[in-house]
Amino acid sequence: MTASAARMADGARDPLSAPAGRVDTRAADKPLRLRPPGSGRGLYDLSLEELSHLLADQPPYRLRQVWESLYRQAALPEQMTALPKDLRQRLSETVPAALRLVSESVSGDAQTVKWLWAGNDGVGVETVLMLYRDRATACVSSQAGCAMGCKFCATGQAGLARHLSPGEILEQVAEARRRALPRRLTNIVFMGMGEPLANYERLWASIERIHNDMAISARHITVSTVGIVPGIRRLSHEALPVNLAVSLHAANDALRDRLVPINRRYPISDLVEACRQYRAVKNRRLSFEWALIDSVNDSPSDARELAEIASGLGAHVNVIPLNPTDGFATRGTPPAGVRRFRDELLALGVNVTVRRNRGTEIDAACGQLSARDTKAAAEA
Ligand code: SF4
Repeated sequence: MTASAARMADGARDPLSAPAGRVDTRAADKPLRLRPPGSGRGLYDLSLEELSHLLADQPPYRLRQVWESLYRQAALPEQMTALPKDLRQRLSETVPAALRLVSESVSGDAQTVKWLWAGNDGVGVETVLMLYRDRATACVSSQAGCAMGCKFCATGQAGLARHLSPGEILEQVAEARRRALPRRLTNIVFMGMGEPLANYERLWASIERIHNDMAISARHITVSTVGIVPGIRRLSHEALPVNLAVSLHAANDALRDRLVPINRRYPISDLVEACRQYRAVKNRRLSFEWALIDSVNDSPSDARELAEIASGLGAHVNVIPLNPTDGFATRGTPPAGVRRFRDELLALGVNVTVRRNRGTEIDAACGQLSARDTKAAAEA
């Protein structure tokens, strides 16, 4: 039993005793009854061939012109000023955006922007753009909601509405790219709403477009997973070498079963083995995300267990003090505890970064997005 588990067994108030979300550990490998993706297909859902049909009455060079405007310049049809006005209008009307902007929030230092979108069936989707000195990163959602039910995550508590289409994923990237200008959007992280590997085909279709058509290298794309082992194995067979981030949060099964319910299906030993295979095959960066929760997973024994796994895999650890989630008793480890946990990992030889909680005041933390706002989108 870990120190954390022992503290809970001692009869102290269990910090995880907040209302349980809808946990669905079937999501990884069994079909869920979901709402179908939004009925309308947006411009970014079209293949090159479908776009060519749409432009059949245009001179041949138009196809390449529109495709490159969409993907290289991330321009919307109304911004494609090199096109005749009636063609711009036709494109806007025939294949309108799949996501409608509901709200935009900008942090006080203007370095973090969060968008809340509504799909054409009303589902809420969130995207975050983070500007750093040396890079600009878009944190993108792959599903509307999430079925994984992680205890500390507002998105997980609200459950899954549906998968996003490749076009809905790409629209988020395009908007972030436009907004980052004149900076170049350099990195994409699939750490927004949803479990990317539970929406595998659509995720991968969007990654291929981002790499091939938007010219953002797969080496700058990170797929985050809470531990869908078959999905990690499948990723290792893909041609493009994306980075893998595993939301670990606990390094023993007793605690992880409680924090991350999918662990009951894919325990840590299986997850570690899949990560080892991914590293061996792809030779890409592997990181573990660790949402540091006060008195839950921040003890010296938690650090030792994490160090053992991370060192064995040559993985980087990102420690993220937990963002507050409405209605939950858990809270992030205070700054002194975060420093102590980091120092313990460093002393054990682990590469560790304490990630700044970007945009806490605008509820912009990746993977802990605001259920309140997404509900508002659905009702808008
Ligand atoms: S932390 Fe990620 S995987 Fe877990 S419920 Fe939230 S969005 Fe889903």
